[in-house]
Amino acid sequence: MEQHYRVVIVGAGLAGLSCAKYLIENGINDFVIIEAHDQIGGRCRTIKLFEHPIELGSESLHGDILNNPLYQLAEEHHLIDIDDKGSDRDDCYHDEDAESIDEDVIDEVRKIYDEILEKKVPTYPYENYPDLSLGEFISAELEQYIKMKTLTLDKDEIDEQQKVINWLSKQHPYLNAIGCNKLTDVSVQGWNSLERLPSNNQYNTETAYIHGGFLNFLQRIFTDKINENKIELNTIVKRISIHEEEQYVDVEIIKNNQQLIIYQAKHVVCTQSVGCLKHSMHQMFIPPLPHAKRMCIQKLGFGTIDKIYLVFPQPFWDVDFETFNFLWDTNQLDTEWKLKCFTNTSFNSQWCKNINGFYVHHRLSNVLVTQISGEAAKYIETISDELLAMAFQELLCLFYPDNQSPLPEQIIRSRWFHQPFIHGTHTFIKIGSSIHDIKQLAVPWPNKPAKPLILFAGEGTHERFYGTTHGAYMTGIREAKRIVELY
Ligand SMILES: Cc1cc2nc3c(=O)[nH]c(=O)nc-3n(C[C@H](O)[C@H](O)[C@H](O)COP(=O)(O)OP(=O)(O)OC[C@H]3O[C@@H](n4cnc5c(N)ncnc54)[C@H](O)[C@@H]3O)c2cc1C
Repeated sequence: MEQHYRVVIVGAGLAGLSCAKYLIENGINDFVIIEAHDQIGGRCRTIKLFEHPIELGSESLHGDILNNPLYQLAEEHHLIDIDDKGSDRDDCYHDEDAESIDEDVIDEVRKIYDEILEKKVPTYPYENYPDLSLGEFISAELEQYIKMKTLTLDKDEIDEQQKVINWLSKQHPYLNAIGCNKLTDVSVQGWNSLERLPSNNQYNTETAYIHGGFLNFLQRIFTDKINENKIELNTIVKRISIHEEEQYVDVEIIKNNQQLIIYQAKHVVCTQSVGCLKHSMHQMFIPPLPHAKRMCIQKLGFGTIDKIYLVFPQPFWDVDFETFNFLWDTNQLDTEWKLKCFTNTSFNSQWCKNINGFYVHHRLSNVLVTQISGEAAKYIETISDELLAMAFQELLCLFYPDNQSPLPEQIIRSRWFHQPFIHGTHTFIKIGSSIHDIKQLAVPWPNKPAKPLILFAGEGTHERFYGTTHGAYMTGIREAKRIVELY
């Protein structure tokens, strides 16, 4: 059975939905969106906990109404969560001997770290210079700082500074926003090409949450405008074959009943993640994607960040505190050790050293939240909820023994790396790749302006805003525009 469309969109994440909305607004209704999962949203995934929305994927909007078009849409629909003004509760910093770390030390090192990231890293030249990793750049700067400190501080004090540096290297909001394994994986030049939107919103909030969560936003802004029979859920695109002579594309799809169907289209907009393309590009495209495109998909980084929510019957901690931070001893980072609850299991406990602590959920006062990135995130996705809940109880008791953490009664978490059709969370410019790879990925195939058959959208194709919701949104519109301009 064959069906004909002008446009087939692969994926109902932000890029796919924004592409569809733009097509409709410009008079093209002859399209279909194919989505492998049973719901829209892709890496925006909201679930309900005690009737409150919690996010397993994207958490908040960057920037403000002037620089982020999604912020503007959310504002127009009264969806910015204005109750969230942040909190004035305290932060707690302990090492694994349960010793508290002086906040003055945290503030001093944080100031240096921020200065390196925000002032020095951006001065690293772009073109015609050998690429360097962000890890190497920061380490070289910090080495100077520590050298200077050894003139006035004793060994214990230097150790304390090192603990804070290690904690910051995983904690800095810029850095844990890409899910890389280590900062030595990230290109400085690539890092500098990522544009961070300043936030100057009228509510004085650092973070703009969305009322009802991202899913509510997507429903209100996009799916309310797209006829629901134009989104085919539980449907997998298996193969995309170009018939260049005849100028059409065959899209082989499998519906949930395993029935194979072919849709014929004049244009296909691919919005799969870079992780997904890495995984499936060799089987998916006939003929194979051009060499240059395959290389850029291979070279770009695709990180993983997982979120973990621990639900307790009630807070067992001092409610004057908002965060409980874990400052690991940097002299012991590579030392073998094992959580007690892992005895008689084959799991190792090294991943724990990537846990930087917990914060209290901004709405749910009995829920602690943490994030984990890189290889450690991929590793714990393979551990059962029961065992992981015990592991977190043990860690909380190690750093904060006075609180005597009970076993969480529920654990809710993402498993983005093992999530089929997603395979991770964020595109980043890995050492060895460059912004040109992002640009190359965005080029339609064949690269003929008069008749692009396969077009590429998705966060990993935005040269300034990769890794973000607004980046994904803009690329969907970019590719829809390319089609609209043809007709
Ligand atoms: C934990 C986490 C936190 C984040 N935090 C933020 C944040 O605070 N702010 C921010 O701006 N951004 C954040 N992001 C990033 C943001 O969520 C993504 O950049 C954006 O949602 C990506 O949208 P997309 O449309 O490009 O891709 P996706 O959302 O991945 O959509 C692609 C869709 O294609 C589908 N698909 C793939 N292959 C096939 C196939 N063969 N057949 C059919 N369907 C297929 C997938 O199922 C998916 O639904 C975060 C992401 C994560 C995971």
